[in-house]
Amino acid sequence: MTLALKVAIKEDESILSFVSRLAQKNLCAYVHEFTSDVGARWLDIVANKPRAIKLLGELTEIEESKLTAHTTRRQLGSLTTYRGNQFSRTTMARNEVKVCPKCILEDRDSGDGYAYVRTHWFFKYVRICVKHECSLIKLSSVPSPCHAMDYANVLIYNHDLIRSASLESKKLISKPALAYANYIYQRLMGQTTNIPWLDQLDIDIVSNLDC
Ligand SMILES: [Zn+2]
Repeated sequence: MTLALKVAIKEDESILSFVSRLAQKNLCAYVHEFTSDVGARWLDIVANKPRAIKLLGELTEIEESKLTAHTTRRQLGSLTTYRGNQFSRTTMARNEVKVCPKCILEDRDSGDGYAYVRTHWFFKYVRICVKHECSLIKLSSVPSPCHAMDYANVLIYNHDLIRSASLESKKLISKPALAYANYIYQRLMGQTTNIPWLDQLDIDIVSNLDC
């Protein structure tokens, strides 16, 4: 079975964000309702359970590797991995959403009109959008904690905050802070940088060199 109403997964989007948008496309108010309707459990998707990912691949006709390309993975102990980087689990918080308001508004004005949360924004040391050279803003939590990772809903809930933040005049970002943000962005995307000696260090250690 495939879904009649689909959305494309974005280049740097996690599977959680993708399924949340897919639920909206299929006119479900909450992602839990959507996953239940299609025979999957939201918590299994949150936990990257292979059977749930396979089902989503069949429903959307998107390769499983593409669905999970920007998804973090919990390892044994207290570690998480993301695109070749290994770091402490406390380095990111999936319940605390930060966004670049300008990226969100650009999403809404282009393509399929759906805004999405970039995975790298969840890392606590990512505070600047390297595309717009502006600070990320922290969004308010939705009233029910069980919807905290229903990111499409979190964006809708914060619509006014995002719009007003996008209209504020840009705070000047220092050159060292921007260089640091660009370096961290490249590392989180799994790219090599022009500072190979620094690439040898774990990203958690590099994050302590924050400007
Ligand atoms: Zn941006």
